Amino acid sequence: MRQRLVVLGSTGSIGQSTLDVVSRHPDRYEVYALAALRQIDLLESQIDRFKPCVVVVVDPAAAHELSSRIAERGLDVEIKSGAEALVDLVKDAQVDTVMAAIVGAAGLPSALAAAEAGKRVLLANKEALVMAGPVFMNAVRQSGAVLLPIDSEHNAIFQSLPEQYQANPEERGICHIVLTASGGPFRGYTREQLEHVTPEQAVSHPKWSMGPKISVDSASLMNKGLEVIEAHFLFALPLAQIKVVVHPQSTIHSLVQYVDGSVLAELGEPDMRTPIAHALAWPERIQSGVGMLDLVACGRFDFAEPDLEAFPCLSLAYEALALGDSAPAVLNAANEVAVAAFLDRKIGFLDIPEVIRQTLAEIPVKPLIDLDGVLAIDQEARICARRLVESRS
Ligand code: NAD
Ligand code: MG
Repeated sequence: MRQRLVVLGSTGSIGQSTLDVVSRHPDRYEVYALAALRQIDLLESQIDRFKPCVVVVVDPAAAHELSSRIAERGLDVEIKSGAEALVDLVKDAQVDTVMAAIVGAAGLPSALAAAEAGKRVLLANKEALVMAGPVFMNAVRQSGAVLLPIDSEHNAIFQSLPEQYQANPEERGICHIVLTASGGPFRGYTREQLEHVTPEQAVSHPKWSMGPKISVDSASLMNKGLEVIEAHFLFALPLAQIKVVVHPQSTIHSLVQYVDGSVLAELGEPDMRTPIAHALAWPERIQSGVGMLDLVACGRFDFAEPDLEAFPCLSLAYEALALGDSAPAVLNAANEVAVAAFLDRKIGFLDIPEVIRQTLAEIPVKPLIDLDGVLAIDQEARICARRLVESRS
């Protein structure tokens, strides 16, 4: 039986890499549905190639345009629109596996619905766990969903943990995990140098090719901050057992250190098709299209402490996790607003952490109960962050 797959965010960087891996294994995977915000030219070519039964275009005008094209060409595919359609889609009994690769908070309701419906969830959308970690992990436990991390660091840790690992790191002899960070395009920059960096510089990542939002997050080190929070929930590890080290080559994707001194890691080319193929096939292995790592060509591996003074976003993420409850959701919302404003040239790069810091200070911490509560906190934090952006632009 082929796995029936839904790719949420199919037009994005992760979505396209997923379809690349899937196209190599037509005997194993069937693309049941695709979903994106509005990039209908690309969606149309994906429809031609993968022949899905359903396509969700969240933007209604774009959905309308795609429907007319499909009708004109007489193609047999159902086009749906609206964010609610994403949630209905992942709950469909036909669906086995959901690749959750929508960027940002917009990806939370559908990723959570997939977890609640007990699907095999391939989670790229780290923001879902940052915003709603306890709610999300509870849904996974209750439904028996299989949760497989796509983020390369978390996928590396997943691969380096004992097979039966669920929680209780001490029982399993885990001392701590180490997330590696490339350092991004501004590694080694001082605060003064960061003052005038542009969106174009921020999105040109030295090692990974990614969407614009995560590229800016990598440049500010907020990506690593979000990943620390993601790791805390995914692996049930306390903050004190999660370390970050800068590793510019991005070859070691992360490590697990055990009490006996052993260190297990996953290494490879910096290409997201490796973790995607791993999660698609787990517990088996399939070809991903990624070349074999040439250790001699690598030559050397470097490591350094992250510079928390120049890149305060990482400390802010630690602080939000220590505050707990709704604070990571507030951090995430403020970051999304600040990154969008930076990409729009409304604020400078160094304003990003300031907007986040002040939003965290202004919004009181509340317990996280359910999705509606998380979304309400997200909205409250966005309103606050937008006001702070206006005052700076
Ligand atoms: P991207 O910007 O390239 O693509 C985003 C996708 O989400 C697109 O298909 C877009 O249409 C869709 N989308 C955006 N807003 C939407 C909305 N409101 N409703 C429905 N769909 C919407 O982003 P990406 O780089 O592929 O990243 C996707 C996710 O994966 C992010 O959460 C990111 O943090 C995570 N991730 C990405 C990488 C990477 O290498 N790109 C690595 C690790 C984790
Ligand atoms: Mg990552």
